[in-house]
Formats: sequence, structure tokens, C-alpha cells
Amino acid sequence: MSHTLILGTTNAGKLRELVELLAPHGISCRSLAGLAEAVAVEETGQTFADNAVLKATLQAQALGGWVLAEDSGLVVPVLGGTPGIYSARFSGPGATDSANNALLLQKLDGITGSRRAAHYACHAALADPSGTVVATASGTCSGFISAEAAGGGGFGYDPLFVVAEYHRTFGELSAAVKAVISHRARAMRGMLPAILRHLG
Ligand code: IMP
Repeated sequence: MSHTLILGTTNAGKLRELVELLAPHGISCRSLAGLAEAVAVEETGQTFADNAVLKATLQAQALGGWVLAEDSGLVVPVLGGTPGIYSARFSGPGATDSANNALLLQKLDGITGSRRAAHYACHAALADPSGTVVATASGTCSGFISAEAAGGGGFGYDPLFVVAEYHRTFGELSAAVKAVISHRARAMRGMLPAILRHLG
């Protein structure tokens, strides 16, 4: 039997990438848009993994459907691992990507070379219609934070995030490249067997 997979996010950038990552595998998915029972899940966990499970579980219970959720963000060791789980709200209430990027550059002012190392992390969780998590997966992508933004692709911190292997930001690299090497792509590769097993 084939079911629809609900993608438990309201982030347009994430949604676009998740659809692009799942579509080639024939997985039928939809967003939360138009689902009146969808809930705004508070991210009260202390880790990406905890928040991914929270989002998948609570959304699946509210909707009575299969939900794939992920929690992701940017980790900058020289800044004590921030913004981490607070990546979306780094610059405070009403944070925007550009305000978050400006704050990141400000915090890294005067820090040079390898001390600007960073990585993206993505933790994903798949919950069944009862809210039971049946699979989890994660992925990372390493790079460093550029001194200035470059490129208009991607979303979030992508114009500042230089991918180690390519010496280009995710803002400059194509969506096709990001779909192979990103933290989200890697997490989805780990999650795919479970999605296909339950929803294929
Ligand atoms: P979440 O919705 O709480 O998981 O927060 C995700 C936040 O992490 C986004 O709003 C971005 O700030 C950042 N982030 C996660 N993945 C990416 C990515 O692929 N590119 C750029 N920023 C990302």
C-alpha cells in the first residue's frame, strides 16, 4: 500500500531540498500547507536529534499520518558550537537569514584561517501515524565561513558557507551539487531505506 509522506517543516528552503531529494525515488510527499490539524512544534530539545524526534512525533500524532521531520543547523567550533540548534533564531525573535548571516560575520570578525571551520548537521526522524519514531538518520557537511557572502543559491547560511572540497559557497554551487554532498542529502540517503520500506 502506498501512503503520502508529510514533510514536517515550514522552512521553504528545506522543503524544496527534501522534495528534490525524495522525488527521484518515487516517494509521494506533501508539505504542511493546508493541513488544518498541523501544529507549531516548539523546539525544546537540547540536541538536533531530540528536536527532530519531537517534530516528527508531535506532527504525526496531530495529523495521524507518516511524518518525516529534520532539525538542522550550522556548528562553528570557535564560537562554542553556536549557532547550532539555534541556527534559525540566531539573531533573536523575528530572525531573518540576512540578520543571522550578519551576526555570524560580526562574531567571526578578526578570526582567520582554519579557525573559521564550520559544519552543517542534519538529524532526521520518521514517525508513523501513531507518533512512533521508526527510523532516524543524520548527516554532516564540512567547510568554513567566508569573510563575505557569495552566490544567491540555497538558503540560510549558504552564501557564507564554503564547502571544503569545492572552495565555493553553497550559494555559488548548483542545487544538483548540494543534493549530493549536503548534510541533508547525507541524512536522506541514510533514511531512504526506511522510507521505501514503509511508504514505497
Ligand atoms: P530548524 O528549522 O530549527 O531545523 O533550523 C534550521 C536552520 O539551520 C535554518 O533556518 C538555517 O538557518 C540553518 N540551516 C540548516 N540547513 C541549512 C542549509 O542547508 N543551508 C543553510 N542554512 C541551513
